[in-house]
Amino acid sequence: MIPHCKEFAQAAKAAGRPIVGIMCEYAPRELILAAGGVPVCLCGGDADTIPAAEAYLPTNLCPLIKSTYGYLVEKSNPFLELADLVLAETTCDGKKKMFELMAERRPTYLMELPQKEDDPDALEQWVREMRKLKEFLERRFQVDITRERLRSAIDLMNRERALRRGLAELMQADHPPLTGRQLLDLKSIVSAIPADLEQYTAALEHFRTRRSPGENGRVRVLLTGVPIVHGAERVLDLIEGQGGLVVCQENCTGLKPILEDVSPNAPDPIRALAEKYYHLPCSVKTPNRRRLELLRELARAYRAECVIELIWQACLTYAIESFQVERVVRQELGLPYLRVETDYSPSDSARIVVRIEALFETVRASRGDRAMAGSGGPAAAMRAPESAPATRASSP
Ligand code: SF4
Ligand code: SF4
Repeated sequence: MIPHCKEFAQAAKAAGRPIVGIMCEYAPRELILAAGGVPVCLCGGDADTIPAAEAYLPTNLCPLIKSTYGYLVEKSNPFLELADLVLAETTCDGKKKMFELMAERRPTYLMELPQKEDDPDALEQWVREMRKLKEFLERRFQVDITRERLRSAIDLMNRERALRRGLAELMQADHPPLTGRQLLDLKSIVSAIPADLEQYTAALEHFRTRRSPGENGRVRVLLTGVPIVHGAERVLDLIEGQGGLVVCQENCTGLKPILEDVSPNAPDPIRALAEKYYHLPCSVKTPNRRRLELLRELARAYRAECVIELIWQACLTYAIESFQVERVVRQELGLPYLRVETDYSPSDSARIVVRIEALFETVRASRGDRAMAGSGGPAAAMRAPESAPATRASSP
């Protein structure tokens, strides 16, 4: 995927299309596409670039931010080197302040994201931010973002989201045809490449008729928390290496940003764009009830047997919100919950594996109870799922 994206971005740049780096799912890719640009994800997932970043950034900062900035210092991310513009947003404090430093080295445009959930004034502010971005892109790239161009970009992104949703929904099956890692690897870092849409379509056709052989007994995991960007898949691999199957990824590299489309026939497409993105339930929102609601829905739809929450070290918003997530998972859904707080270094892998094993033991024990219940055994009547032993693991 990465070499293919690089070839695409290089060819697009040579053809005169601006490359626009993004680092967040609040970035409205449709506006970039309507301006003739190529939206490319710049999020770093490589531990090796972190030391270079730590010459400028505090050590106690989220590895995603440090890795991304390290690429900038080392000039080693080909997409960032190609970028004509970085589109930034005020999300978490770490990213927001890192963008200030990035702006000293790369042309950067900042959108101010309002953070109150379901507040009409906040939505109006976000609509204004969308209009300002449109005007900025028109000036910057000397292009008229007409209603037609915007509608066509909205159609394209809706199509991409629908295809990716279709692939993710394959995981609802009793015997999903993919692993969570394979599903994650199908995600492109450049949006709306025509060849990618063809590949998503082909993958959907291919996997729709298949089921995974020999997957009986794997523990169905709902994975929530921070995004898992390219190169930082270690915890997902540890989960699946221990007999888990990540059937649902609620995070920003999974379902969260692709569940809602932009209304294609809205009279005001900019407002429609703003509404879609405003609804994204990131932990930088306060409160963030939509995420809890989403977790309830996804756990049921994907028949999760447990929930694992991944938090990058020093990510305060996800770390604090994990208390609400744990409460919903344990008390409302009656599922075991494990919180894994880590960074990009593999040094704590053995400890994480032990916690995952303990979690899966709990799940298997409750399966045994349910089987007893099905056969009328006595334990079933006595043990509710909530009474399973605690498996919450705090920071390493
Ligand atoms: S988790 Fe929040 S800040 Fe991070 S990419 Fe998603 S929306 Fe953006
Ligand atoms: S993982 Fe947390 S700290 Fe890191 S960029 Fe995302 S929201 Fe910010």
